[in-house]
Amino acid sequence: MTPGDALPGGPLDVVAGPRVLVADDAAPDRVRSVPALLRLAEGRIAAIEEHPDVRSLDAALEAERARGATVLRAPDAAAVLPGGVDTHVHVNEPGRTHWEGFSSATAAAALGGVTTLVDMPLNSLPPTTTAAHLAVKRDAAAGQLAVDVGFWGGAIPGNLADLEPLWEAGVLGFKCFLSPSGVEEFPPLDAAGLRAALVEVARLGALLIVHAEDAAVLARTPAPPSRAYADFLASRPEDAELAAIAAVVEGVRETGARAHVLHLSSARALPLLAEARAEGLPLTVETCPHYLCLSAEGIPDAAPQFKCCPPIRDDANRDALWDGLVDGVIDLVVSDHSPADAAEKERGDGDLQQAWGGVSGLQVGLTAVAAEARARGLGLEQVSRWTSRNPADLVGLTSKGRLAVGADADLAVFDEAVPWSVDVARLAHRHPISAYDGLVYPGSVTATVRAGVLLPREPDALPRDGSRLARPRQEARA
Ligand SMILES: [Zn+2]
Repeated sequence: MTPGDALPGGPLDVVAGPRVLVADDAAPDRVRSVPALLRLAEGRIAAIEEHPDVRSLDAALEAERARGATVLRAPDAAAVLPGGVDTHVHVNEPGRTHWEGFSSATAAAALGGVTTLVDMPLNSLPPTTTAAHLAVKRDAAAGQLAVDVGFWGGAIPGNLADLEPLWEAGVLGFKCFLSPSGVEEFPPLDAAGLRAALVEVARLGALLIVHAEDAAVLARTPAPPSRAYADFLASRPEDAELAAIAAVVEGVRETGARAHVLHLSSARALPLLAEARAEGLPLTVETCPHYLCLSAEGIPDAAPQFKCCPPIRDDANRDALWDGLVDGVIDLVVSDHSPADAAEKERGDGDLQQAWGGVSGLQVGLTAVAAEARARGLGLEQVSRWTSRNPADLVGLTSKGRLAVGADADLAVFDEAVPWSVDVARLAHRHPISAYDGLVYPGSVTATVRAGVLLPREPDALPRDGSRLARPRQEARA
């Protein structure tokens, strides 16, 4: 260790490396991978110095160390990325904290290179469907956060009048379901409810995020008890996604509301989404690491850690989802981390209709997607756009998700030469259940920096001073 090198838990003055993914001012949707030195101050990126080569960079770092600066120098095989922004996480606290809570979820995020997450409004009790409930959740999160956390509100039957107070209280948008959510206190919207929510969201200038599976299609599809993954897959057909997405597109066209399709699983919906985008509709789309990195062919029967809704489909579908990402029809990749305890995951003793649906991918997602991207000839520059910049922009957190002067000093070091063999017992989320257990990746997240502080790699040692984020206000123009 060189004098002036960083120790975990302490603030950094400088982060540098041969491959720093800096935002490209000339092309806001791109990043450039360059030798660079980031100067950090007061939790933000104060300056960015690009260097023509590594020798020049290291000479500058020597000068920094000589003047007493604390330096993190990423290895040559590593890239410095903006910290991940995961806008789809079910924390479940308060109320179902025995499934997952703020302490364990944010530790998993930090270790996985995710420096900001946005908590879903359901599975906690109460659900985030009123401003008072949001206050309960914000209180529950206090003092536990290893990363910054924002909050979604919920749109359910009967709470239309609560959306404006929630928006004023700082939620980043509203989630709704079009089919049963899995918990009775968060029912789905019917067609009229969806339309009313879109009208209200348009009026507020907010965002509606939609779990797009159609209730009627699901209701008429057989779902017999079975331990066979193929039977579970058949019970959640692509047509359910197609019908629901068509309804969302139509609603956006009629109301002008901004809407976002959550966790797209069926690539058959891509042409419909591409058409809607070409038409100029304000519609965005996400998918998840498990749809991009796992496929039905590899899922054993009676293995509920792979159960989620919509389901993980076949390999050809997975390839087509990657095409959708590369083509820009899919905007972002977020985890849909939705854990439960063993009792819930094993309910029905392997009957996949009874088991709780949800994949716990918060800590592994970035690494898994980076590995799969690399195998497909895609670089971290693209991955970072899907996992940092685009999700930050979705929720208007424009100080997140980019390495730019003035942005928050939230960073991840991803080392392509440090492999990771995933051991479920060592993941930081609450229960040792994961679809990624035993998988081996060629690269991994080796360091995370939040608000200019190098985070320890042990959950118990993490500082718990993450922010509870509210929606940034539009600055009044003079
Ligand atoms: Zn979800």
